Amino acid sequence: MLIRIIYVSSAVGPQTGTMTNAILKKAQAWNRANRITGVLCQGQGVFLQALEGDRRTVTQLYSRICADQRHNNVEIIHCESILKRRYENWSMALVSLSDVDPATKIEWPEFDPYSVTGLQVMARIDDLLASGSVINELD
Ligand code: FAD
Repeated sequence: MLIRIIYVSSAVGPQTGTMTNAILKKAQAWNRANRITGVLCQGQGVFLQALEGDRRTVTQLYSRICADQRHNNVEIIHCESILKRRYENWSMALVSLSDVDPATKIEWPEFDPYSVTGLQVMARIDDLLASGSVINELD
């Protein structure tokens, strides 16, 4: 059974390029080998990540991610069974939230990733992907 989850978390230290690259490198290799797809949005001290794949595999990965000391305050904001992947082209696309784009500021004047719904997040991710804001396409 396929599922998709989206969680939000707070970075423990500065979100440097070195840290992002280390996370992405690991995610790229492991996710591809285990048929996980998704998007990692990072910036402004937060991570928002969508993970899709086999339910057991996603659950195990999420447990490992929760235990990662590079972030804390991990909260699931969306979880659903799916028939089709939304992010099937990416083992882990990276999208920057560091300068929240003007459209996001209009839609969410006080952008607070802990208060948005999963549907809002997916709509925004779709916009960012469609506008070519993907920093690192891994496939
Ligand atoms: P190990 O590699 O043995 O690491 C154990 C702990 O050491 C980690 O939990 C972490 O706290 C720390 N650590 C590991 N590497 C570093 C480093 N380079 N710098 C500083 N501390 C480090 N993994 C995936 O496979 N797929 C994903 O999609 C994915 N997304 C992630 C998203 C975020 C926001 C974060 C923070 C991590 C993500 N990871 C992802 C990495 C994941 O949390 C685990 O580190 C990874 O799955 C390896 O697990 P492990 O138990 O073998 O940990």
